[in-house]
Amino acid sequence: MRLIIIGCPGAGKGTQAKRLKEIYDIAHISTGDLLREQVALKTELGNQIADIMKSGGLVTDEIVGKLLMMRIEKPDCANGYILDGYPRNVEQAEYLYSIIGDVDKVVYINVEDSIIIDRMAGRLACPKCGQTYHIKNSPSKVEGVCDDCGSALIQREDDKEETVKNRLEVFRKSTFPIVEYYKNKGLLLEINGDNPIDKITSVITEGLK
Ligand code: AMP
Repeated sequence: MRLIIIGCPGAGKGTQAKRLKEIYDIAHISTGDLLREQVALKTELGNQIADIMKSGGLVTDEIVGKLLMMRIEKPDCANGYILDGYPRNVEQAEYLYSIIGDVDKVVYINVEDSIIIDRMAGRLACPKCGQTYHIKNSPSKVEGVCDDCGSALIQREDDKEETVKNRLEVFRKSTFPIVEYYKNKGLLLEINGDNPIDKITSVITEGLK
């Protein structure tokens, strides 16, 4: 199964993507994680994109496209994958189509901006494995420590309020048009994201039947 998950920052797409990965035994591909990995490794590419990512702007289509193509060729993608954070604009959606054709479904998690700003203020992330938590809604077992790998949790630079506002703006301008693009193709599964995590997962899996 090949899926795309779309939602503004903080809509919960990473959380749902991880669950769908387990349910359907497919790879979870987050372009944000692929890019953060480059920044953390301080590769030439990483140094080039660090400032753009800090500001919440978009990395060039060419860079992200290349990283994505390398990733989907890996063996763990043989059974399918869920793309989280890609495509981010219509150009990327068209590029993706030119490479792999249509995906099976595009899940769009819809959440209002005011709810998002509130949620992001409490979000913590593991700098090592990328797992995310929320101080209130989904805390780690030990405060400030990642359940999966034991690293100290941080607030991501791009989860700070000013950056969140910028990312929402970028979402509205660049990414929202792809919702319409996939709706026109008859591939969109729109989900109300203002619900508990388990409920959202079951509505998605029901919609994918
Ligand atoms: P995310 O973890 O998906 O919220 O992505 C974090 C940051 O990585 C974004 O704010 C962008 O700077 C960059 N990024 C992730 N995916 C893409 C993409 N498909 N195109 C351009 N930039 C991206």
